[in-house]
Amino acid sequence: MSIDTLADAFYNELRDIYSAEKQLLQALPKMAAKASSSELRQAFELHLKETEQQIDRVERAFEDTGKAARAKTCEAMKGLIEEADGTMEEDAAETVMDAMLIACAQKIEHYEIATYGTLCAWADSLGYGNALKLLKQNINEEEMTDEKLSSLAQSINKSAMAVH
Ligand code: FE
Ligand code: FE
Ligand code: FE
Repeated sequence: MSIDTLADAFYNELRDIYSAEKQLLQALPKMAAKASSSELRQAFELHLKETEQQIDRVERAFEDTGKAARAKTCEAMKGLIEEADGTMEEDAAETVMDAMLIACAQKIEHYEIATYGTLCAWADSLGYGNALKLLKQNINEEEMTDEKLSSLAQSINKSAMAVH
């Protein structure tokens, strides 16, 4: 498919985030299982539930494009998840591992925030009101997740500092 218009670019980018969210759905349970802090584990589990809803919203956002909801592999998310997998294989003290899990998760959230930011701006330009509403809900959840992780990091980093 050639990308001639901003509408084509929007569809292409929506396919990318659709793939990214689906990949994350597979990765989050592993990250939750690896977390030692119960608060961190719960944050990952909550975001897993949110991710299920986000996928549903992305599917509904496709309606404005008049085209099929079809994922196109997001190579960036694939790479971010590969890095997270590599980190989880490291031999690290529990709290240090938790701090590293937060680092991996925040890279993922920031990637999603960047993509949804673009998608919202394009949906607004294209007059895709339904998609804009849905994508704004997603970006809000990603931003809240990012803030939650920053606040959890404050106590987790302190504990990690106690490891010598
Ligand atoms: Fe997401
Ligand atoms: Fe991507
Ligand atoms: Fe997210």
